[in-house]
Amino acid sequence: MSAISEVPAPRRDVRDARGDFPILREQVHGRPLVYLDSGASAQKPRQVIDAISRFYETGYSNVHRGVHALSQRATVAYEAARAKVAGLLNARRVEEIVFVRGTTEGLNLVAQSWGRANLGPGDEVVVTEMEHHSGIVPWQLVCEATGATLVAMRLDARGAIAEGEIARCIGPKTKMVSVIHVSNALGTVNPVHEIAAAARAVGALVMVDGAQAVPHMAVDVQALDCDFYVFSGHKLYGPTGIGALWGRYELLATMPPWQGGGDMIERVSFAGTTYAAPPARFEAGTPDIAGAVGLAAAIDYVWSFGYEAIAAYEHELLAYGTEILARVPGLRIIGTAPGKAAILSIHVDGVHPHDLGTILDMDGVAVRVGHHCAQPVMDAFGVSATTRASLAIYNDRSDLDRLAAALEKAIGLLR
Ligand code: PMP
Repeated sequence: MSAISEVPAPRRDVRDARGDFPILREQVHGRPLVYLDSGASAQKPRQVIDAISRFYETGYSNVHRGVHALSQRATVAYEAARAKVAGLLNARRVEEIVFVRGTTEGLNLVAQSWGRANLGPGDEVVVTEMEHHSGIVPWQLVCEATGATLVAMRLDARGAIAEGEIARCIGPKTKMVSVIHVSNALGTVNPVHEIAAAARAVGALVMVDGAQAVPHMAVDVQALDCDFYVFSGHKLYGPTGIGALWGRYELLATMPPWQGGGDMIERVSFAGTTYAAPPARFEAGTPDIAGAVGLAAAIDYVWSFGYEAIAAYEHELLAYGTEILARVPGLRIIGTAPGKAAILSIHVDGVHPHDLGTILDMDGVAVRVGHHCAQPVMDAFGVSATTRASLAIYNDRSDLDRLAAALEKAIGLLR
């Protein structure tokens, strides 16, 4: 195993990021592209695209199984990516990082492996009303299978966990608290450390969905004091098909495999099979090797600016966007929790978000419309969908000016 990667000192200015993204030079319907859908998936910088091509051109083979030089080269690159992720999350050990397809797979892994082995009738799994569907449905499936019950902490009018909900929902029956770190529909940043303290007090575990956190803020799993943390590479300027699950090693070591196949075993026979230690136990089959290499390049890319500068830049942009959108007549922002991250969820009375999104697209402005895989959030706010602009390091004020102008025009047309 490689040693955990150290976080380097930042060496670039985040305002130079935009030029690294070839796709931002594209035209859409004859207009320069304004990409405000990074919450769904972020675009890729030249550095990540090149790292993946370079790997396929000079280092590619299968991992963990060949004695030949290329297989060893690929294994070194794959394991170095694991060490990079361990550095990103401040894991205690590199072996605590399990490569998965993304956040969805990581949540399903924990629900199926840990959940099936540890939940039963009378036990409760606590989530929030603002979870992404991937933080709800895997737990519903395992609750159905084991007889456990799913409990949801309610939201207040700003889109934060309502006062008193942590104490009301987390109690002696709680075995797992699974929370979103940053809401993809609202931008709310949850008080994970406080939630973890409440869970610890009753002997429950804590799982965190970090899909919308890692692109915007430094994450330290030891400081958060959680037990599992998961994210997707594609929202962090990396490729699709790769993400990582961090789990406390002592916990991973007690968990049964959830998928069987090559690479996850110690010894296979028809009399019985024994399993490899984590992380291999949870990585059955050929993994997304080039994806891991791309993810490592994405982490290097983000580190080249540093999270402090990224967060400051995006917060300034969010404040500017909030201010200019407030001037658009008839528009309301859903999700106003203090300290929220770079997401602007927009509601316009009497205008359907799909119509709004289509007109914005004709203007070259890419936003996401719909329920954002968070239907309980829509229910909590009494809307069926919103128009979401989500920010990344390559956005600037001119993108938000184009958004506001396009919205004003679209609302004028649709009303
Ligand atoms: N959780 C959150 C908060 C998300 O925003 C997303 C993606 N929209 C997911 C989970 C699911 O991620 P993936 O589709 O990459 O598995």
